[in-house]
Amino acid sequence: MESKKYVIAMDQGTTSSRAILFNKRGEIQSSQQREFRQIFPKPGWVEHDPMEIWSTQMGVAMEAMQKIDARPEDIAAIGITNQRETTVIWDAATGRPVYNAIVWQCRRTSDIIDRLKSDGLSGYIQEKTGLIPDAYFSASKIAWILRNVPGVKERARRGELRFGTVDSWLIWNLTDGRVHATDYTNASRTMLFDIHKLCWDEEILDYFGIPASLLPEVRPSSSYFGETERFGGAIPICGAAGDQQAALFGQCGFNPGEVKCTYGTGGFMLMNTGRDPIHSQKGLLTTIAAGEEDRVSYALEGSAFIAGAAIQWLRDEMRMIRTSPQSQTYCEAVPDSGGVYIVPAFSGMGAPYWEQYARGTIVGLTRGVSKDHFIRATVESLAYQMNDLLSAMKEESRLSLSTLRVDGGASANNFLMQFQSDISGVHIERPRCIETTALGAAYLAGLRVGYWKDRNEIRSNWACEHEFVPTIAQDYRRKLLKGWKKAVKTAIFWAQEEENDTI
Ligand code: ADP
Repeated sequence: MESKKYVIAMDQGTTSSRAILFNKRGEIQSSQQREFRQIFPKPGWVEHDPMEIWSTQMGVAMEAMQKIDARPEDIAAIGITNQRETTVIWDAATGRPVYNAIVWQCRRTSDIIDRLKSDGLSGYIQEKTGLIPDAYFSASKIAWILRNVPGVKERARRGELRFGTVDSWLIWNLTDGRVHATDYTNASRTMLFDIHKLCWDEEILDYFGIPASLLPEVRPSSSYFGETERFGGAIPICGAAGDQQAALFGQCGFNPGEVKCTYGTGGFMLMNTGRDPIHSQKGLLTTIAAGEEDRVSYALEGSAFIAGAAIQWLRDEMRMIRTSPQSQTYCEAVPDSGGVYIVPAFSGMGAPYWEQYARGTIVGLTRGVSKDHFIRATVESLAYQMNDLLSAMKEESRLSLSTLRVDGGASANNFLMQFQSDISGVHIERPRCIETTALGAAYLAGLRVGYWKDRNEIRSNWACEHEFVPTIAQDYRRKLLKGWKKAVKTAIFWAQEEENDTI
């Protein structure tokens, strides 16, 4: 391994494909990124062209290598991380997709899920897959392609087709159709995988009419998936994980109770819960964490639909700021939000509330409220939402939590991080490398080939850029949280039309 200089992470996201070459210290040596087309055939439908996913991903990997003159023999391994749940079905003989990729955001299969719920399968699905039935996951998207694309059902029955999440699709292409595989983390987002027995669940497959021959073989996230010759020399593919799980790994969240929180367009929180899966009563999802072994660890996952998107709203619709980072200056211009709470439930509220009809709410306005207060209340709402997820996780896992590791665009906002630390009463660490998703994929691959010896070596790479510690008094924290709860209740009340009628 001494002669190998880099590990490549292929980071196939929802809007762009990226490739990053990391060195042994986990530092970025080269990177390249390309956006690709978002296809919206009808309202609520979202697709990608699988060939474009493949060509942009391959293109950026080649270019990132070229930039620093890296040759295939310099690369120890490839690790893949990807947008999760997005569904591709292709012909095993030609490699040609039978339809566009149906993207995780696509809502076209809501009716399939409604039927599943009225068929009384929700409990079974949650018990086996750890997921709350939703159109978001791959299962109903596969069923839709089988039912709606002419000839596909018959071809699938004859065993001529293959299904994959984006990791499988890339592995298939990288290996010239020799390998049809995925990893535990991606499998655990299909809503077809038994996360306890670690196999595809026959009853769920039957329900959706999905033949087993469509499905990839499932392996640990850090394992040998195959070898690619596409770069003009053999490179092993030794890591694959869904983006959120890869980020938890990149943040070194290896032990029970370790949590990472991503402040991107949406907010994502994952807590490692160790060897025993915890089934949530509060609408958190149970999922498999990325790792090296056949014996998996689990994680609890919660998300807020709107996080950084609320800052974009301040910028693009409210036109109160010109750039997202500017929000910090306004927040720091006032000592508090002036009693204002903004609940950015633009598209309903997720865990732990699950009120899909809730809408954004602003409460507590007085004559003295200024733009500074308004912006501050919006930024604070990111922290309150994350705190709700954190509280639910702490309660359900019964794990004590000392530190929150953060990443994503809005984690750059020091005011937001300090406020999060204050209201959650936790210590926050922001790492030097915030490309934690790509880094996690690189670590998974590099561990398998011995580029990194073990998790301890990886831990020693993790460097803290900034720490935040709680500074506010308990009483004040309680008062702030009470206000938030009341604001959320108002947002939910607004959604309940029938009750409003009786006012
Ligand atoms: P994604 O991967 O979901 O596209 P990113 O991790 O790139 O998102 O984060 C982008 C989001 O972070 C945007 O919504 C942006 O408004 C927000 N953001 C970026 N910098 C800041 C900042 N300094 N303060 C607050 N929000 C920010």
